[in-house]
Amino acid sequence: MINLITARGITDESVIAAMRHIPRHLFVPEAFVHRAYDDSALPIGLNQTISQPYTVAFMTQSLELKAGEKVLEVGTGSGYQAAILCEMGARVFTIERHFNLLEQARKTLEKLGYRAASKVGDGTVGWSEFAPFDRIIVTAAAPTVPDPLLSQLSDGGRLVIPVGDLDIQELVTVTKRGNEFERQRVYGFKFVPLVGKKGWPSPE
Ligand code: SAM
Repeated sequence: MINLITARGITDESVIAAMRHIPRHLFVPEAFVHRAYDDSALPIGLNQTISQPYTVAFMTQSLELKAGEKVLEVGTGSGYQAAILCEMGARVFTIERHFNLLEQARKTLEKLGYRAASKVGDGTVGWSEFAPFDRIIVTAAAPTVPDPLLSQLSDGGRLVIPVGDLDIQELVTVTKRGNEFERQRVYGFKFVPLVGKKGWPSPE
């Protein structure tokens, strides 16, 4: 898996070291363990996925995270991304809208000794009690960048989020500088939808 992501251009040594260290097979259902180190997204139940390793690496590299920084993750899913952020020394806050997924993710993170604050809820409105965040990573596709997330970024902070329609998205990196927001975009990603007040309507 590490060879696959470095061959595709991932160079950040701290991201590579964290992904080399973390056993991805513990974050996937039994039926998919044999594919845990393929470079592919895999089902985790409730129509959700653990993201493709290259995408996880690319997003994490785009965060330009430093140890000790406070990070909000929207879309805990399996807990794999949260584990990577913890392994890189971040103080992690993660939100998931599905209770059952969050319960499973909490167990896996605990088993591996990672500590992350987590809650069930709508991450499109952020987590104001703990704002501002140095970094925010959204691991589901939004129709637009949710305003509450921009307002919960610290000065110099970075937000990484897939934005687009339900079929294809661009990965948007927003850096806050005073009252200005600088944006960079990379096209061609595919995520499950971000469902919530500032996201897509619920399919249920
Ligand atoms: N980061 C995850 C991992 O490492 O396994 C990948 C998660 S999956 C691609 C996206 C997740 O976002 C799903 O578990 C989905 O339920 C969750 N989600 C979607 N909309 C959400 C919202 N408004 N707030 C919190 N979680 C949300």
